[in-house]
Amino acid sequence: MKRILTQLLNLPDVVVESSLQEGEILILSVSKKTKSAVCPQCGKKSEHLHQNQRYLVKDLPMGDKEVILNVNRRRFKCKKCRKTFSEQLDFVGKRKGYTHRYAEKIVKQIINSNISHVAKNNGLTDVDAPCAASRREEVNSMLEDIAKNVMPIDVKNLKRLGIDEISLVKRQGKFIVVLVDIDSEKLIGLVKERKQIEIEKEMRKWGEQVLEQIEEVSIDMTGNYKKLVEKICPNALVTVDRFHVTKVIHDELNQATIAENKTASSLNIESREKVFDSLKGNKYTILKAENKLTEKQKEKLDRIREASPLIGIMHSLKEEFHNIFDTSEDLGTGMLGLIDWLKKAVRVSAALAVPYYQKSVKTIKRWFGEIVGYFERKTTKVVVEGINNKLKRIKPSGFGFINFRNFEIRALLSWHYDINLAR
Ligand SMILES: [Zn+2]
Repeated sequence: MKRILTQLLNLPDVVVESSLQEGEILILSVSKKTKSAVCPQCGKKSEHLHQNQRYLVKDLPMGDKEVILNVNRRRFKCKKCRKTFSEQLDFVGKRKGYTHRYAEKIVKQIINSNISHVAKNNGLTDVDAPCAASRREEVNSMLEDIAKNVMPIDVKNLKRLGIDEISLVKRQGKFIVVLVDIDSEKLIGLVKERKQIEIEKEMRKWGEQVLEQIEEVSIDMTGNYKKLVEKICPNALVTVDRFHVTKVIHDELNQATIAENKTASSLNIESREKVFDSLKGNKYTILKAENKLTEKQKEKLDRIREASPLIGIMHSLKEEFHNIFDTSEDLGTGMLGLIDWLKKAVRVSAALAVPYYQKSVKTIKRWFGEIVGYFERKTTKVVVEGINNKLKRIKPSGFGFINFRNFEIRALLSWHYDINLAR
């Protein structure tokens, strides 16, 4: 039995000496197989056992049993130093109530969930129990322990920064600011509100040297970050990522589709049905790059063009816009392409007497320098977007300050967590 339990436990060089079952709990008395330990003072091996010291440590469950290890951390006496010392145990940290592998499992779960949920799933807390708070506290302390190894995030190689904002809770209008290292494609910081002063505070923590070495800062066009960047990153070129420009254009195309549906009401029955049918539920077909559509989607697109020539024209302008970004290899070509596109959009809008893409045109003109910076640096593409999507999958657990801290840790861990950090 002891041999089977030792095998099941599967901790290197650890043997199970005895076991005790108490209801749902399995208590295993364990100690190291080796008869000696190395003195931390002089490095000499000692076989002189001075004292057995037992304490309880939580480990991974076996089957439906919760497992508690009754660990013997032996004290040895070093003949050379004439002092006693505790042996090193590689599966549990000093003064910790849980094994490394247990903490790893919990932290991995926390990254994708929230503390109460994980605590509950692991039998760490019972909502009605008086000790629930203290058990939740234990999980929190595991998280904080590991976070200490990750934070502050190492930014000494930061050259290209992305600043973006996302809303985590839909319709609440609460935005947080996301700071991204574009080259390593990792999240490097979160700011709990969009105020410039808060973002500045966070960035100042990186130190003067890092701020000075930043070569490029990619921003979106809604936040007013340009002035901030110019103020604290003296050597950075401000660029607007193509992803943000695309969003403005896609929004307008989508708005036009909705408006076209409304206008169709005034048409005769047959044409009206045609427009409704072709546009209904086809947002994706309209917004997706034409060369990436399936045969079936292409047929749908043809029907849209036929039923609604206006959307057809706007769609081709959208395609031309993407084409400029896909094919321009240098600043000159990109700039000329963009200028042509702007002229064409204005011309089409005037000819059709509709205001579509006029918001995009205005925005692109206002940010022209930053947008063409993209052609020069060929920045981010999908980096920022990918990070935002991953962030949205990390569930926030409410929105108090403590919860922001918890979200921040979990988010940063999900990019910077290395299994060894639980040790
Ligand atoms: Zn010694």
